[in-house]
Amino acid sequence: MTFAATILTLYPEMFPGPLRTSLAGRALEEQRWSLDTVQIRDFATDRHRTVDDTPAGGGAGMVMKANVLAAAIDHARLHRPECPVLAMTPRGKPITQARIRELSQGSGVTILCGRFEGFDERIFETRDIEEVSVGDIVLSGGEPAALMVLDACIRLLPGVMGAPDSGTEESFENGLLEYPHYTRPQEWEGRTIPEVLRSGDHARIAAWRKQRQEEDTRLRRPDLWELHSGAPVQSASGAQRKKKETDQ
Ligand code: SAH
Repeated sequence: MTFAATILTLYPEMFPGPLRTSLAGRALEEQRWSLDTVQIRDFATDRHRTVDDTPAGGGAGMVMKANVLAAAIDHARLHRPECPVLAMTPRGKPITQARIRELSQGSGVTILCGRFEGFDERIFETRDIEEVSVGDIVLSGGEPAALMVLDACIRLLPGVMGAPDSGTEESFENGLLEYPHYTRPQEWEGRTIPEVLRSGDHARIAAWRKQRQEEDTRLRRPDLWELHSGAPVQSASGAQRKKKETDQ
């Protein structure tokens, strides 16, 4: 099955962009995923092909017009009724690896990319749209966010990554960060690879990795650790202080 990506954007030339190379590029050639871009401007109704207007109530910037967005979304939905529509917006629900995995197991995804100040709010009241954020940062447009979501989905598609487990052992897959990695040389700038990783003792290695996953998650991402363990959150700076104290 081909995973169908449809991108609604004012800048279709930004796609596939970096997804033309490496794993995702090869997977595109092998038709493991397909890409359709929809130029939002094609759905403008006036002769100037206007897609935005000044914000009601005043203020800076421009707002993408509801009627134009709705026409573009309806077109995409008609074409791919089985694909969820995601709108990229800092107001959305932060994307998670669990949601990415679900999306990658579906038939595809339609992604609406904003520009300017964003979308007329009524689009969310009248259309079935999942609002998604890629983090507490502000991009100049939804396109890099869409590339990020797509990249994360594509690498999980069957046959895209070499080893079948390489997707399942990773950060966030079990609610924890991944353990640290090392590779040759055994000694570099006076630092050696932890002895346990050279022991060949698979049970010890697994135990060490699990312990490092737990410790690193607790110290670096107390929010994830709380979800995983049910333990109360300690502030990250407090946690780091504590680690320094114990390291001394
Ligand atoms: N005025 C908005 C920012 C608009 S940025 C605000 O303050 O919230 C322009 C576009 O970039 C948005 O419409 C959205 O599509 C995209 N964008 C910016 N930051 C994003 C983020 N963190 N996640 C997803 N999309 C983002």
